Amino acid sequence: MAAAPLFIVFLGPPGAGKGTQAKRLSQRLGLAHIATGDLFRMHLQNHTKLGQLAQEYMKKGELVPDSVTIAMVEERLKEPDTAAGAIFDGFPRTLAQAEALDALLAEHGARVNAAILIQVPEAVLVERLSGRRVCRAQGHVFHVKYNPPKVPGRCDYDGSELYQREDDKPETVRRRIQVYWEQTAPVIEYYRSQGILTEVDGNQDIDQVTEALLTVIAALQQGGVDAS
Ligand code: AMP
Repeated sequence: MAAAPLFIVFLGPPGAGKGTQAKRLSQRLGLAHIATGDLFRMHLQNHTKLGQLAQEYMKKGELVPDSVTIAMVEERLKEPDTAAGAIFDGFPRTLAQAEALDALLAEHGARVNAAILIQVPEAVLVERLSGRRVCRAQGHVFHVKYNPPKVPGRCDYDGSELYQREDDKPETVRRRIQVYWEQTAPVIEYYRSQGILTEVDGNQDIDQVTEALLTVIAALQQGGVDAS
């Protein structure tokens, strides 16, 4: 019998390392990586209507409306690579999104098995975001100082160009962090009250954070994750 799928939510402020870790762990664990920010950026690159709409919000550091975001995730969950489960990165970001995710997973007989909050002191976030560089082809994440590519300006994995996200500029970064506290902090409490929240220290080496996350997930798997 196939193991029950595993759905994990990564929470944490912008710059906490959710994307970097979700990319690593999803590959290692054979789970889909569902990053709503990446999906919006893909739409933007492909000049879709959804991309144009999302851009209006993204460039100001505001959240894209729930209805649009939830519909996009609903579509993404229909893809076959989600059969074994997924790591959600940057979603849910509001209580309404968290409730919608529960309903969507319930339709597939699944649920959120764990939410992991990656904690990083606020002072560190701005420095991380301002030095962040992202690859054009697949969104691999680097940092000019803390995680530099082997060849400056080029992705280690696919050789594509690295660029600075428009919303990683200081003015927008401040607004994104504020939006996180206003709108996403309640999501932390939502999962805490269900007893499925674990906190991990994100202010350590990238490899150490990966290890800490793997430990949490291994404990979850040993605990007999089920979809009931
Ligand atoms: P991220 O790549 O996760 O930092 O997301 C970049 C931007 O995309 C955010 O600042 C929002 O404008 C938008 N976005 C990403 N995920 C969501 C979401 N779950 N809900 C609303 N807006 C989102």
